[in-house]
Amino acid sequence: MAEKEVQAGITVKKDADFSEWYTQIVQKCELADLRYNIKGFVCYLPWAVRSIKKMYSKYEKALEKTGHEPLIMPSLIPESNFKLEASHVKGFAPEVFWVTEAGNGVKFEERLALRPTSETALYKMYSLWVQSYKDLPFKRYQSCQVWRYEGKMTRPFFRGREFHWIEAHDVFSTEEDAKAQVKEDMRITYDMLEGEFAIPIIFFQRPEWDKFAGAIHTYAADALMKSGKVIQLPSTHLLGQNFSKPFGVKFKDKDGEDKYGYITCYGPAISRIYGAMIAILGDDKGLILPFDLAPVQIVVMPIIFEKSKNEVMNKCEKIKELLEQKYDTKIDARDDVSAGFKFNEWEMKGVPIRIEVGPKDIEKKQVMIFRRDLGKKIAVLEKDIEKTIDNIAEEFTENLKKEQLGRFNDLIVDAKTKKDVEKAIASQKIARCPFCSIDMDGEKCASMVEKEIQAFVRGIKADGNEKPRNNDKCVICGGKAKEIVYIAKSY
Ligand SMILES: [Zn+2]
Repeated sequence: MAEKEVQAGITVKKDADFSEWYTQIVQKCELADLRYNIKGFVCYLPWAVRSIKKMYSKYEKALEKTGHEPLIMPSLIPESNFKLEASHVKGFAPEVFWVTEAGNGVKFEERLALRPTSETALYKMYSLWVQSYKDLPFKRYQSCQVWRYEGKMTRPFFRGREFHWIEAHDVFSTEEDAKAQVKEDMRITYDMLEGEFAIPIIFFQRPEWDKFAGAIHTYAADALMKSGKVIQLPSTHLLGQNFSKPFGVKFKDKDGEDKYGYITCYGPAISRIYGAMIAILGDDKGLILPFDLAPVQIVVMPIIFEKSKNEVMNKCEKIKELLEQKYDTKIDARDDVSAGFKFNEWEMKGVPIRIEVGPKDIEKKQVMIFRRDLGKKIAVLEKDIEKTIDNIAEEFTENLKKEQLGRFNDLIVDAKTKKDVEKAIASQKIARCPFCSIDMDGEKCASMVEKEIQAFVRGIKADGNEKPRNNDKCVICGGKAKEIVYIAKSY
């Protein structure tokens, strides 16, 4: 990238124009290249991919720890599989990319879907793999790409026609076990998104009209962006026997009888979580990344003057050797750009720690350590470097989390009337309010919310403790409120 460009840094304030800020982050930090010549398809570049791989690795570990085994499924699904579950095919049909012929002109007997999600590929095979109660629970996941012909405006990482995710599909012998899995999926989501990625979320049970095609219930995590819009992050679905019956996912139970399994599926979209993470954590200077996810965690910066060059470089090498055992460490010894330029560039790219070493520091047996999260620089004695870095590594993500979670709580406001809801939405907040119903009866009121407030009923809080009081009325129709729902603008 041209030096001039990076020196300019991010030229717009995040609060002033979020959309332009995000575009600049993606371009100037070299996260994605949008010039690929199919609309909605982008190239992910190394600085993004290195973080995304670290996210995958954390997520895969969490799934394996809870009994999931990895597999890799074909990316093509025959149309006949698709048609087995009626509401699923109806929900996904408009977004499917179909493969219909080979290059030599051979037309396929049936159309093949480029998987938009893998239920109909997996459960066909699950009917062969699951035979006995001894096979249950049967828990598998795959890390893969999926393709959906997205009609809404695409934005790199957030929404594209191809995205990268993990999908976990589990079969149980009882409905209780399946429900417990949905709870475990939610716990894993909190552990990952809030615990590791510093993204505050709320889990909602989605209204009937907004659930996954073919599910009994859908539970989805929403994160709130600075713009006041929420974005849907991982969702988990209780499919019950809706798929096991048409696909024949059966097992011989202890009593010798054939029974249908109860299925759950869980889909954290890693590329979208990455987009949400950089959008939520970043500031006017650029990226801020959780410590574990930064492609480079520590950059060592020799402050070189000709006569002390060797001494300074030797010291930097020693520091790198000391730290690279535990951390992704890099020396930036470029001499064709100024120190100020390098500082700005690494800050923009979200490297958590910068260590500066100059001749004066060597004299004093110290280094300067800069933290990206606090924007502060401190002098640290050479003998204390490792201990100091260990402390920062431990604190860094905790610090981001504290800041984000604190901010999130202030963004939810209670509303009693439609006016209150409008006011909350206008001031970029989430409204919490009494609402008639999240069954199909409530759909009419929800479409009023959409039409008149340009916002969406996101559902009821999944931990289920919030209930309206006796005389609470639906903010839209004035009828008796059965639920407390959250209303927000959404991406
Ligand atoms: Zn109503």
